[in-house]
Amino acid sequence: MAEHGRKPGPTSDASDAPKISPGNVDIGRIEKAVREILFAIGEDPNREGLLKTPNRVARAYGELTAGLFEDPRIHLRTVFHERYDEVVLLRDIEFHSICEHHLLPFTGRAHVAYLPDGKVVGLSKLARLVEGFARRPQVQERLTGQIADALMEELNPMGSACVIEATHTCMTIRGAKKPGSVMVTSALRGIFKENPASRAEIISLMHG
Ligand SMILES: [Zn+2]
Repeated sequence: MAEHGRKPGPTSDASDAPKISPGNVDIGRIEKAVREILFAIGEDPNREGLLKTPNRVARAYGELTAGLFEDPRIHLRTVFHERYDEVVLLRDIEFHSICEHHLLPFTGRAHVAYLPDGKVVGLSKLARLVEGFARRPQVQERLTGQIADALMEELNPMGSACVIEATHTCMTIRGAKKPGSVMVTSALRGIFKENPASRAEIISLMHG
C-alpha cells in the first residue's frame, strides 16, 4: 500500500507516512503532483485561475476514491430473515468511478439482483454496495464481479447477478474517441450461472 502514498487510517507511524486528511487522501501530496502536471503541460500554476486548482483536484480525488479503504460488504450485514424466494432486483443504480488505467471517470448504471435463501437486505444497501466498490480506482469487469461476489459471501443466496452499463471517458474523449459507446459487463453467480432458465430470466429482467 505504500506506493499509494496513503494508508487506511491516521495511526501509521512510518516516518514517511503521509498526512491523512479527513477525506483519507494526502491533500498536500496531490497538490504538489498537480502543480507538476500543470508545469509539465506547459501551464503556469501560479496564474490566478489555477492557483486553487491543485487543492480542488486533491479534494475531488478524496471524494472519488473515498471507498478505497472501506469494506462495502458491511452494508450487507444488516439483514432481515424473510421467507421470500423470488428474485430481488434493483435496476439503474447510478454510479461514478475512475478507471485505474487513465484515472479518468467512467459512469453508468448498475443492475443488481439476488435470489434470497432466507437473508434479505434493504434496497438502499445494494446502492451503497455499488457506491463503495465504485469509489476507488477500478476496472469495470472487477467492479461487476466484486458486487456479485459480495452478495454471495454475505447473504448466501441461491444466486446473485450484476450487470453494469458504463461510458468510459478514456474511450469517448481520447484514444478511440467513440462518443456514445457503452461497455456492458455481467457477473452471474450460483443458480444464475448454472441454470439456463434462471439465467435467461435474470438477464431479461435486468434489461427491463
Ligand atoms: Zn481507462
